[in-house]
Amino acid sequence: MKILIVEDEDSLREVMIRSLEKERYVVESAANYQDALLKINDYDYDCIVLDIMLPGGSGLHLLEELKKMRKKDSVIIVSAKDSIEDKVTGLDLGADDYLTKPFGVMELIARVKALLRRTEEERKISGKE
Ligand code: CA
Repeated sequence: MKILIVEDEDSLREVMIRSLEKERYVVESAANYQDALLKINDYDYDCIVLDIMLPGGSGLHLLEELKKMRKKDSVIIVSAKDSIEDKVTGLDLGADDYLTKPFGVMELIARVKALLRRTEEERKISGKE
C-alpha cells in the first residue's frame, strides 16, 4: 500500500511519515502544491493525506486536479481550520474522509486503515479484484 502525505509543516509531516511507515506502508511526501501536483500526476497512490493550506496553492485545488485526471486514489483531507465550508467543499470534490488539526497519529492511522479497507471491499464487490 502506497501513501502520499501532502503537508508543509515539517515536524507534522515527519511524524505522519514515521507513524505510517511503522505500519508498513510505503510513504512518499510533498511539502508544497507544485511538488504534490507532480507526484499525483506521475504516480498512483492508494491513499493521499492532503493538507488544505499549502505554499503555492490549495489542497482543494489539488483534489480537483486529481479528479480531472480521473485518478482513483482515496483522499483524506487535513485542515487546520475547523471549517464546515472546507469540509463540505472537500467532500463535494470527492474526498473520502476529513481530519481536523490537531489530531493524534493514532487517529490518522485508524482513518487510513478504515479507508483502505473500505476501498478494498468496494473493489471486491465490483469484481475488479
Ligand atoms: Ca498547511
